Amino acid sequence: MSELTDLGIAAIRDGVATGTFTATEVAGAFNAAVAEAQPALNAFIVTTPDHALAAAARVDADRAAGKPLGTMAGVPIGMKDLFATKGVQTTAASHILEGFVPQYESTVSQKLWDAGAGMLGKLNLDQFAMGSSNETSAFGNVVSPWRREGDTAAIAPGGSSGGSSAAVAARLAPAATGTDTGGSIRQPAAFTGISGIKPTYGRCSRWGIVAFASSLDQAGPMARDVRDCAIMLEAMAGFDPKDSTSLDLPVPAWDAGLSPDLRGKKVGIPREYRVDGLDADVAKSWDDGIAWLKDAGAEIVDINLAHTKYALPAYYIIAPAEASSNLARYDGVRYGLRDLPDGAGLQDMYAATRAAGFGAEVKRRILIGTYVLSAGFYDAYYTQAQKVRTLIARDFKDAFQTVDVILAPTTPTAAFGLGEMVSDPLAMYLNDVFAVPASLAGLPAMSVPAGLNAQGLPLGLQIIGRPFDEQGVLNAGLAIEHRANFIARQEKWW
Ligand code: GLN
Repeated sequence: MSELTDLGIAAIRDGVATGTFTATEVAGAFNAAVAEAQPALNAFIVTTPDHALAAAARVDADRAAGKPLGTMAGVPIGMKDLFATKGVQTTAASHILEGFVPQYESTVSQKLWDAGAGMLGKLNLDQFAMGSSNETSAFGNVVSPWRREGDTAAIAPGGSSGGSSAAVAARLAPAATGTDTGGSIRQPAAFTGISGIKPTYGRCSRWGIVAFASSLDQAGPMARDVRDCAIMLEAMAGFDPKDSTSLDLPVPAWDAGLSPDLRGKKVGIPREYRVDGLDADVAKSWDDGIAWLKDAGAEIVDINLAHTKYALPAYYIIAPAEASSNLARYDGVRYGLRDLPDGAGLQDMYAATRAAGFGAEVKRRILIGTYVLSAGFYDAYYTQAQKVRTLIARDFKDAFQTVDVILAPTTPTAAFGLGEMVSDPLAMYLNDVFAVPASLAGLPAMSVPAGLNAQGLPLGLQIIGRPFDEQGVLNAGLAIEHRANFIARQEKWW
């Protein structure tokens, strides 16, 4: 038998159910892998081995008592440290929340525990989920398990869900939660050779998730394969009266509905994503993806998404605008850090706390957001960006009159090295160019591994679907997975 840490969600759940191994053995194996890798990869902000073991003990006891087991029974997962977890520090990777221990559990994490999952720890991320490389974390950056061939330089795991991607890729967890505001599930999944899906906006409750940009934020699973994503998304999704934007729709049986047969389906290839100077390896993997989907029976159709080039500038107005408003609550009164200089008044305390607690990228976003919302510039920037957002959503709506799903690269390049982009925020923002349009339109989108580039780093392909059609996205992902046959993994160096 392969090692327990090589198994994914379905294999662990089924092995526990049939008694091939116990949930306690599984939790022990992953806890050990986490502890071993933590010094080198820094994927976790806190580890919670006891949480994983306690959940496993409940599953083992339920099985012994002949009770029905949940869809994630016995599966220990990593939890992005953006989800509030009762009794466990929740920081959003920011000093301003250091020491904040929520008295409540986020809806999504609660649903996962109810399905029988346990928690290995809280995963590192870019501070307040702002970033594409994990370098904005106040707790040190995560290091990807991947390395370029013949080179030991540290590689970015992507961001903001970089702890999640690194942990799943390094087999420290069979799966992890992510959140995606403008690519933070898909881009790190692509950078590390794993799968991840951002569902339709509203599928997963945002209650108890630290807010970045509320009209964009969505939770989703990051896992080793498409089926594991389907199983975990089913456990995470569902209507929640505590989130006013939650979709009041039943959760489809995505796992049972999986099919890699795409006969009768049309796949759109957006011309505008073929940007000048597209990385040659990325272009080739896109061509491979087109051939694979054709082989799966789909008809390939060229489409136009005319306003694509305005998506990134619109995102980098709308997301900071919402962030500047959401982050106003960190004032030294209610959560975590309080900096109260001698003789300080209330305003001084706010200023001192925020100056000490927020990192540079977070401050940059608050400044941009406050500026674009200010009376003199609101119409020129914020209103204009909202209009662009509408046009981008309309482009997709028109395209989905003729096609069922859209295929594009997830990122313009493979993972970059840590430190290579950090001094140039605009270059860093460009990394999101293929991810943000689907976010602005609220559409389901996933990244699946497509192969390796010339330097031996993973590349991802992105599938974007109609609103509520996660099934169509997952099925196209499965068709690619069957043909890409991505089994490459980094030899262990940590
Ligand atoms: N990298 C993007 C940003 O920095 C997306 C982040 C996210 O999706 N949370 O805003």
